[in-house]
Amino acid sequence: MNENEMVLQILSRSENEVFARNVVAAFALALNPTLSELSDVKTAVSEAVTNSIVHGYRGGEGWITVACKISGARLHIEVSDGGRGIEDLQQALTPFYTTLPDEERSGMGFTIMQTFMTEFSVRSQVGKGTRVTMSKEFGARAKADAQ
Ligand code: ATP
Ligand code: MG
Repeated sequence: MNENEMVLQILSRSENEVFARNVVAAFALALNPTLSELSDVKTAVSEAVTNSIVHGYRGGEGWITVACKISGARLHIEVSDGGRGIEDLQQALTPFYTTLPDEERSGMGFTIMQTFMTEFSVRSQVGKGTRVTMSKEFGARAKADAQ
């Protein structure tokens, strides 16, 4: 049975977004992913970490934790920050809704995470922080091999 865990803690700097998504991709290699599965995971992590940097800490410095767990064919990922938090979560989850329209944000980050991952949820407390929990079931390669 495939079981593994890792926790990555990074400062909220834009260069660490690339680092985080590549670390998670490297961790996910144990699941023998297809390129498409790997790319989905990298995109989802990138959107979550960028949100913590841009919205959670608004350009200030703080810690972001990326915790990953492999359980069978599933990869679980939690991205959390101790930033501002989200006032209206339902509104934030609406496609194209953004609180930073002037900075050319399209309001699609959460929608992308939801689309690319099997499971997705967000918990947030104003003034305390935000935690995105998502998971993806891997198996595209096994399915292709079986055909
Ligand atoms: P895009 O991701 O397309 O660049 P966006 O970041 O505004 O634009 P989403 O990622 O969908 O869009 O997030 C929607 C809104 O939720 C954000 O505009 C912001 O107000 C809020 N939000 C998301 N993540 C966080 C976070 N970690 N901390 C505080 N607010 C957040
Ligand atoms: Mg975003």
